[in-house]
Amino acid sequence: MVNIGTHVSSSKSIDLVFDRGKEVGAKSIQFFLRSPRSWQWIDRKESEKENFINKKLSYNINPVIVHASYLFNLASSDEELFNKSVNSVIEELKLCEELEIEYYVIHAGKTKGNSKEYGIKRILEGLEKIFSKVSLKNTTFLVETLAGQSGEVGATLEEIKQIIYPFENLKIGVCLDTCHIFAAGYPIHTEEGFISFKNKLEETVGVEKVKVIHCNDSKTPFNSKRDRHEHIGKGYIGLKSFELFLNDKDFSKLPFILETPKEGNMDIINIRVLNSLVRP
Ligand SMILES: [Zn+2]
Repeated sequence: MVNIGTHVSSSKSIDLVFDRGKEVGAKSIQFFLRSPRSWQWIDRKESEKENFINKKLSYNINPVIVHASYLFNLASSDEELFNKSVNSVIEELKLCEELEIEYYVIHAGKTKGNSKEYGIKRILEGLEKIFSKVSLKNTTFLVETLAGQSGEVGATLEEIKQIIYPFENLKIGVCLDTCHIFAAGYPIHTEEGFISFKNKLEETVGVEKVKVIHCNDSKTPFNSKRDRHEHIGKGYIGLKSFELFLNDKDFSKLPFILETPKEGNMDIINIRVLNSLVRP
């Protein structure tokens, strides 16, 4: 049985993420701790945190994953934006630790014109600051593979390795996004391309570092360097690739999280489609 889950809204009260996951039959869930396009931090009431912890113990939905806000940019040369990003990640990670959330996923940053070397150096400086303020005990910090738009750092497995390698001894790992790796130029839509991607993964970050898979089809073609998620089987990646991921001896042990458009009952349908591809 493969663990198939989805991103859910955390609006009103964070404990509702479990109810929203249950409603669509998700085995695992992901959510934001703040509106993904806003810096505003919400201090949670004790009762809200308690409800969250109680439901986390009783709903049988796991792992639980938090996705960092899209505004953060640890690769930025703008001092104010960089510091704000570092402090906001610290804020979020502390709450993840307190709530015993298993994974925290982040888009490391974008260079917007600066070199990749600069971007990586800056991200490492940011992570250094973050990990000096929060020690990872309950939560594993995951750097996500990106499509490569606007100079995103982490569009190649080599870049991901450079970001996580210095912190190897901490609880740090990788989140693969099927749409992003496809858009970044890894041809996972063919069996040959899937195998070569997996070999590359073993040579660079190591398959064991991958903890979560963001399971999305792509609205834009192979190597487009654009990040546009599509419903499973409706995009350019196609069902074959998802079948390969879901039945792979390593990937099949991981949670597959849908981040497809929230349209009607599409979460239920996407979960059904993915389940139908799992071989007994
Ligand atoms: Zn993401």
